[in-house]
Amino acid sequence: MDLYEYQAKDLFAAHGVPVLPGKTVDTAEGAEAAAAELGTAVVVKAQVKTGGRGKAGGVKLAESPAEAKEKAGAILGMDIKGHTVHQVLVTTASDISEEYYFSFLLDRSNRTFLAMCSAEGGMEIEQLAVERPEALARIPIDAIAGVDKAKADEIVAAGKIPAEVADQASDVIVKLWETFVAEDATLVEVNPLVRDPENKVIALDGKVTLDGNADFRHPQHAELVDERTENALEAKAKAKNLNYVKLEGGSVGIIGNGAGLVMSTLDVVAYAGEKHGGQKPANFLDIGGGASAQVMANGLDVILNDPDVKSVFVNVFGGITACDAVANGIVEALKILGDEASKPLVVRLDGNNVVEGRKILEDANHPLVTQVATMDDAADKAAELAAGA
Ligand code: GDP
Ligand code: MN
Repeated sequence: MDLYEYQAKDLFAAHGVPVLPGKTVDTAEGAEAAAAELGTAVVVKAQVKTGGRGKAGGVKLAESPAEAKEKAGAILGMDIKGHTVHQVLVTTASDISEEYYFSFLLDRSNRTFLAMCSAEGGMEIEQLAVERPEALARIPIDAIAGVDKAKADEIVAAGKIPAEVADQASDVIVKLWETFVAEDATLVEVNPLVRDPENKVIALDGKVTLDGNADFRHPQHAELVDERTENALEAKAKAKNLNYVKLEGGSVGIIGNGAGLVMSTLDVVAYAGEKHGGQKPANFLDIGGGASAQVMANGLDVILNDPDVKSVFVNVFGGITACDAVANGIVEALKILGDEASKPLVVRLDGNNVVEGRKILEDANHPLVTQVATMDDAADKAAELAAGA
């Protein structure tokens, strides 16, 4: 889960990383009151889970509460890269002498963690990484050894952070590592990490990604979920214990039993879809081994309610749960859903008790269901139906 800047900075503050005071509000009047309360010049900042807010006009300086109200009014409701701004952070403005870049992240390709540091941070960091990669130091972090003061000093030196603030910067980096580990993050990024005119080092921005696999260790992280922007279908699927991921830009709903089978179904549908105007899978949904009628109904319910879905491909390989049980599940699921089921279903059954399973679907003769014997042909049929819809 990605966090908002204000949530990231709350975590930073809890781990002793220096940040400036602020308040998150969802109205222009709220921003005015927050600025009055802070009693300083403020920065009004769009809270959206995407970068480049500054360039998009989502970060604005305000010298007075009245100006904060005006700036918040302009930023609230703005669209930044497809994200609507529902809240703004009103935070004490800082004078900036220098902007640095710092991050810890999970480096999957090298099976380790990585620190990245540069004395040339700020809004052009992507360009810097491409044009002068040597100016962005990359230091592997051993997961067991972690980051102590000596390691942090090494990172600061590699990033060419100026000597006057090197000691402070390395203290901050140790605390950011503590945040990274204690919160089970896969990303902690500060851009800019600034040096102010009094030579104080402050985290002015924060980006944190938490590892969902560690949620069970952090019950308090549940409070960080924003219901407003969480995909409603993903939330529904989660509540029903389904392993569902929505995919952008697809039209073919996918249900299968077993993650491996579902993954290969995605590939086969994407391939078949090329012949049908570029149809793509609309989701990943693994209903697992023991697919009862109710689980099948829950799965179909989630997928059929996705407005992007034009056809559904049910791809099942009977194992411990035999094909006849799955076929009965599909028939029952369609009864449970009744009129809610309104999109064509292509079903491919194979494996344990396939003959019995196929017969059950034939006998049910449901108008929405087409049976196809092989995975490739079924994918082709599902893509064709999605294209025609
Ligand atoms: P991002 O563009 O989404 O990464 O948003 P940031 O929080 O990094 O803000 C973008 C830029 O706004 C920063 O790089 C700073 O140059 C500027 N900025 C942010 N906060 C302040 C502040 O308190 N004072 C000043 N002078 N500039 C700020
Ligand atoms: Mn930033």
